[in-house]
Amino acid sequence: MICPRCEQDDVIKAMIKANKSIIFICPECEATWFSIDEIKFPGFVDYMTYMKSIGLSHLWDELEIISEKI
Ligand SMILES: [Zn+2]
Repeated sequence: MICPRCEQDDVIKAMIKANKSIIFICPECEATWFSIDEIKFPGFVDYMTYMKSIGLSHLWDELEIISEKI
């Protein structure tokens, strides 16, 4: 699925290793969603902002990629 925010890359499915939660994130602009049904624009959160809010770093090392295509 093409990112509805930047339309530059495919949204991927990933797991935040620290809390095992699943997110959907655009590798290009780092727009983040929590449900595949909610992937639209507007309606995203910023990955860095979200990770800071839960006390994690915003490095991609925090993520385990589950699927490159959704
Ligand atoms: Zn994007």
